Amino acid sequence: MIDLAMRHRLPMRKVGRPGALSRRGAARIAELEARLAVQATLIREQAASLAHSQKIFDRSSAAARIGVWQCNLADQALVWTDVVYDIFDLPRGSALERQEIVTCYTPESAAELHVRRSQAIAERTGFCLDAEIVTAKGNRRWIRITACVECEDGVAVRIFGLKQDITEEKILADQTRYLAEIDVMTGLANRSQFQSKLAAWTELCAEHPAPGALLLLDLDGFKQINDTFGHVVGDECLREVGRRLESACSGAQLVSRIGGDEFAVLSGPNLDLQAISALALAIIERLGEPIDHCGTPLRLGGSVGIALFEACTPSELLVRADTALYRAKAAGRNTFRIFRPGDTAGLRGHRAA
Ligand code: GH3
Ligand code: MG
Repeated sequence: MIDLAMRHRLPMRKVGRPGALSRRGAARIAELEARLAVQATLIREQAASLAHSQKIFDRSSAAARIGVWQCNLADQALVWTDVVYDIFDLPRGSALERQEIVTCYTPESAAELHVRRSQAIAERTGFCLDAEIVTAKGNRRWIRITACVECEDGVAVRIFGLKQDITEEKILADQTRYLAEIDVMTGLANRSQFQSKLAAWTELCAEHPAPGALLLLDLDGFKQINDTFGHVVGDECLREVGRRLESACSGAQLVSRIGGDEFAVLSGPNLDLQAISALALAIIERLGEPIDHCGTPLRLGGSVGIALFEACTPSELLVRADTALYRAKAAGRNTFRIFRPGDTAGLRGHRAA
């Protein structure tokens, strides 16, 4: 800044004799120099303030893993800040080819990005998208892209915005969703997921009726396993039941554990009565196979109650299946029953409602 002031210093005019004019000239020069000095100080202060702002931006941007990106639409030239390079595991400041960068996105994310970007450019708007990338070093990351389109004389010339690394947030959200929807003991869907799927399915069936069924399974004599071998062995049996149920119901829409030793299956769509009965028999047979516990075969079994899909509410369907299950238990266990109109809820009915 001092150099700037020096460069702008006015040259001394040569005069024949020092007098009133040269004194005025010297005063004027002094005045201009003072002004330049003030401006130089101002510029210095502004430069310092700018550098400070830049430092704060860089640090915040790095801490939040948010970078700024820009793409010139005429030639697709990209400009990134350091954090965007870091997110993609590329050397900071290296040359960027948009076509190559796009290959870092997974096929699904690349397709969605293409659609959202084209639409934003056509409509001169913007978008926000969570996309998955595989970086130059092979790391999988989730990034949140926000984009705005900049226009000149009504023509889209540039698209720019932020890219944020949201991998940790995504993992946390996935874990939270997993815990909210999955039975940790067996890895099957839990009661909450079962209820929402059942509600969605009954709603769909009301609009487009299709054969299918809800199957409720309750293990027979499970308390005895706990009482004889302890809860740890009981838990292992529940896990094995979960695995067997999943393999027996591979075409089902949902296999879930909805209570202690109680499981629910939403059959595949378009299963007729015969296919549903065959499915129930397959479940019972599979559960009847002994479970090996340190060389001792443990005998388990299960009873199944079935409610065929008809236009009714989820809780009505659940009560019907539970009523049929009560009949299967009453018939001696290790068998299945299908709800018939006129069946009255047994002792179990109150639990399902
Ligand atoms: P039933 O033949 O009439 O079905 O009787 P049951 O012995 O199978 O017993 P019931 O279905 O009435 O009760 C379920 C039992 O499951 C009660 C409880 O001891 C046991 N149980 C519930 N949750 C768990 C669990 O998470 N782990 C273990 N090990 N046992 C559980
Ligand atoms: Mg039981």
